[in-house]
Amino acid sequence: MEVIRRVEYKVKYHKPLPDIKGIGETYWKNLKKGKLTIQHCNDCQRMFFYPRVACPICGGTRIAFKEHNGLGEIYSYTIAHKSIVDGFKDEVPYVVALVRLDGVRGNMMTNIVDCELNDIEIGASVEIEYRDVTEDITLPIFKLVKEGN
Ligand SMILES: [Zn+2]
Repeated sequence: MEVIRRVEYKVKYHKPLPDIKGIGETYWKNLKKGKLTIQHCNDCQRMFFYPRVACPICGGTRIAFKEHNGLGEIYSYTIAHKSIVDGFKDEVPYVVALVRLDGVRGNMMTNIVDCELNDIEIGASVEIEYRDVTEDITLPIFKLVKEGN
């Protein structure tokens, strides 16, 4: 059974948006399609994040984007309880986390959503959810993997 992991937001998005052009363009275009793709080095056979022109492990430039299952764990996190910035102040408290994707070197800064704050901990298993925030941009956010799923 395929789990639907996509949330569309019809309200105007007030937070800063990423630059989706340049070396990360493939990454962002695939997120829009509901697909997480991470760069893979064909020289050392490792995957790494964030997108760049050369492998940070071996320096190789034979790099291709490969699909990733969107599973990982919380490497570190913080909980924001206050904000004076539009787009954020209505959402406190919210979780900002570094997620280490399975088999990938480098962490992804993201949000952990739809959870009890007391359940957030370093090492907790998470899975991706694709959040459409504009017509062109889909952000990768994460939810805790519940026991028994
Ligand atoms: Zn490499």
